[in-house]
Amino acid sequence: MAKKIIALDAGHGMGTLGKRCLRSIDPAQTREWYLNDRIADRVQELLGAYDCSVLRVDDTTGDKDISLGNRVRAANNAGADIYISVHHNAGINGGSGGGTVVYYYNDSEMRAKAQRLYDAVVGSTGLAGNRSSRVAVGNLYVIRYTRMPALLLENGFMDSTKDTPIILTEAHAEKTAQGIVGFLAAELPLRKKDAGQQAGKPSGGQNGSSLPGRKEVYYPAYAGKKTTLAPALASIGVNSSYAFRAKIAKANGISGYIGTAAQNTHMYNLLVAGLLKKV
Ligand SMILES: [Zn+2]
Repeated sequence: MAKKIIALDAGHGMGTLGKRCLRSIDPAQTREWYLNDRIADRVQELLGAYDCSVLRVDDTTGDKDISLGNRVRAANNAGADIYISVHHNAGINGGSGGGTVVYYYNDSEMRAKAQRLYDAVVGSTGLAGNRSSRVAVGNLYVIRYTRMPALLLENGFMDSTKDTPIILTEAHAEKTAQGIVGFLAAELPLRKKDAGQQAGKPSGGQNGSSLPGRKEVYYPAYAGKKTTLAPALASIGVNSSYAFRAKIAKANGISGYIGTAAQNTHMYNLLVAGLLKKV
């Protein structure tokens, strides 16, 4: 069985305008990106226990709001098996209620998947939705143009007196991540790594050098602390010079490499997922 690839997207960037908690409820006006990213990071961590690859199609530093087109392209190019986009909602304007909503794009099969994600997340967080549709059709770019099953989670409202204090907590983020991972493990399905593999080296080793059933050979997945491309490559013993990164870019379908943050972030995310093709 080929290793499953999960594309994960923490919506927006840190600086994206407007996306933040309502000041009257959260004086710090916490950014949506922060809430989304905290959950996406934890999902990625928890998935480390399973035999799968996680491809972050966003900028995990939050510096850049990667375009929706580029997020979708990255997932499609990697041949991801599922795409999960994590968001928090707005639209209650300081009222109460809200809760969880899962969006899907098209058919009844996707609706059933969306319902299973909703059930898994709400089963874990307890933050049930009280909107007319808790599982809803959404004409949203990342779920419309991805070529794999794709779901967008709106994990509570940033302008609800009920939801906001809950979604700001670490405990809620943890429960949400557990719900998402439980859903993915059952849905794809995912196999837990055996004990030896799980306790293995943080990077390299038998794990990540190639994916069974795939022809290309990949660099070992980078599993260290969140950083940028060059230090991540260096830490796994790969030449991180500009000239060599340009070669890696070419091998990974990036034409005209000039070392932009977006190009480097994309390659970094592939490296973390164990999907960066070797030169
Ligand atoms: Zn959002």
